[in-house]
Amino acid sequence: MEASRRSAVKPVIVLKPSKRVPLVEDTTGKASDALPLPLYLTNAVFFTLFFSVVYFLLSRWREKIRASIPLHAVTFPEIVAVFALVASLIYLLGFFGIDFVQSLIMRPSGDVWSGEDDEEGNEVLLREEDARTVPSGQALDCSVPSLPHMVRNVTAQRLFDEKPVRVTTEEDARKVSCGQAIDCSLRSLPPRPPIVTSQKLFHEKTVIVTTEEDEEIIKSVVAGTLPSYSLETKLGDCKRAAAIRREALQRLTGRSLSGLPLDGFDYESILGQCCEMPVGYVQIPVGIAGPLLLNGREYSVPMATTEGCLVASTNRGCKAIHLSGGAASILLKDGMTRAPVVRFSTAKRAAELKFYLEDLENFDTLAVVFNRSSRFGRLQSIKCAIAGKNLYLRFTCSTGDAMGMNMVSKGVQNVLDFLQTDFPDMDVIGISGNFCSDKKPAAVNWIEGRGKSVVCEAIIEGDVVRKVLKTCVESLVELNMLKNLTGSAMAGALGGFNAHASNIVTAIYIATGQDPAQNVESSHCITMMEAVNDGKDLHISVTMPSVEVGTVGGGTQLASQSACLNLLGVKGASKEVAGANSRMLATIVAGAVLAGELSLMSALAAGQLVKSHMKYNRSSKDVSNLSS
Ligand code: ADP
Repeated sequence: MEASRRSAVKPVIVLKPSKRVPLVEDTTGKASDALPLPLYLTNAVFFTLFFSVVYFLLSRWREKIRASIPLHAVTFPEIVAVFALVASLIYLLGFFGIDFVQSLIMRPSGDVWSGEDDEEGNEVLLREEDARTVPSGQALDCSVPSLPHMVRNVTAQRLFDEKPVRVTTEEDARKVSCGQAIDCSLRSLPPRPPIVTSQKLFHEKTVIVTTEEDEEIIKSVVAGTLPSYSLETKLGDCKRAAAIRREALQRLTGRSLSGLPLDGFDYESILGQCCEMPVGYVQIPVGIAGPLLLNGREYSVPMATTEGCLVASTNRGCKAIHLSGGAASILLKDGMTRAPVVRFSTAKRAAELKFYLEDLENFDTLAVVFNRSSRFGRLQSIKCAIAGKNLYLRFTCSTGDAMGMNMVSKGVQNVLDFLQTDFPDMDVIGISGNFCSDKKPAAVNWIEGRGKSVVCEAIIEGDVVRKVLKTCVESLVELNMLKNLTGSAMAGALGGFNAHASNIVTAIYIATGQDPAQNVESSHCITMMEAVNDGKDLHISVTMPSVEVGTVGGGTQLASQSACLNLLGVKGASKEVAGANSRMLATIVAGAVLAGELSLMSALAAGQLVKSHMKYNRSSKDVSNLSS
């Protein structure tokens, strides 16, 4: 194991960012900084020069042989010709040779996670396994479209007068084969349309704003006489409101929003629920990891991310789980919390309320009051904590298929109103007193749980650990102990006893319309690994006490997010049992985290992490040229 760790360090030292190679040349570009002539001119000159001097030198050579003149007796024109030959060769090699040489040297291997020194036998074995284990129709086309070849750079001053500034390049394609039989054909995107100017944008065919009336509205927003937030109400047309707001914003800031799409989004669907004052939407790619075999069912897990390797890595974990017979995910608890803070004039009075709330005889009455808020919200418990004369009341309730923050807040408000009769001296300071605790790391969530508490486990066969994960059980167990348990303890971690649970949680949350800010507590996770079956196999588990998910409400009803929920078979409200869909989603999140933990830990144990990231997570684009 030590040997494998040591060998892991090597690639870190030898790897360098890949050299940038222009794929497409800007015809208006210069040959180089040192040769500031148009490219077409230098190409023509050096091509002509090369062939002329080759012809000249060959004829001179023939004449010398015929006249028996020694070859080393060179004349001045011959010396000049040799220099010209070398110069043109350097030029031509520089422009046309490097691409070819690099394509030979830097061709990526088939498997993101396989080392370059992989035995061929292993690769063949894996491909055969792929063909067996991936159900028909599940072969993914993971073609990666080449990025737009031309990047336009805009400075504030030149906002409406852009020129192509520099040609940038990108890897043509990446072949990813973590557990799936894949077809990786190249597909190119059409070239990015040029950035449109403010006026052009305003008059674009697809944009509704074309009238003088709209121009007047834009001017009023720019002048500050019409509040931007009132556009939807005033116009009664959300798309038009967004277009006008966007144009006003561009004029006000002098900054272009080109690249942030406006069309292709249903702005009515977010009104009053998901986002205020929209000016467009951000595109995030969605990748699929899976099939994840969980509780006997297969799931294709959608992950919205811009982190290279993440989906591929999770996919590899899914493959290892699948080959080992699947994982089991168990829901332990389901209850959303809200904890208001109330204040009294004395600690004694605060304590009296605490005793009242914790008295089981009062619970039924309080539950009836609480449950009036929704047919799905059902009060489960009230846990109190005192700080002097301040009291924190942590209400927990089931919320059906909703994540439940609104639901629990309404129920809590009902109870606070009710309590005011018996405790008129109670001063409600805030409906949320942070003892809930929402979107902040807190021990109360780690210990008590919030939302769904889930544990997920699998036994990974030793053979699979070796062939798919390219490491061994012993290395994984040791790494888990020293990194996820001891390392996190040394760091004073709170719920962070894992390798990268938040990576998977956040990607699934974004894809399925969850509140991504809740990844804070939803990513609380302890990953355990143990050698079982006489040390042959690996038992791995993830325990996640605060997975906060819903399949109704919030962003879950938006078209893209709803499609991802549909893929998992948990879209909307469950028709059989209220809450079944959201609970199922929580178990899937834990299953995907298990896959992610397994794969990343293996990559670390085998020393492949940096190598894979350098290959698949680092574009060859010159980032310095992208900022204006
Ligand atoms: P949250 O409480 O997660 O913020 P919302 O309050 O926006 O979510 O959404 C929950 C809404 O969905 C409530 O109005 C509730 O009555 C409705 N709803 C419909 N079906 C269900 C269900 N199966 N589970 C929970 N809520 C449901």
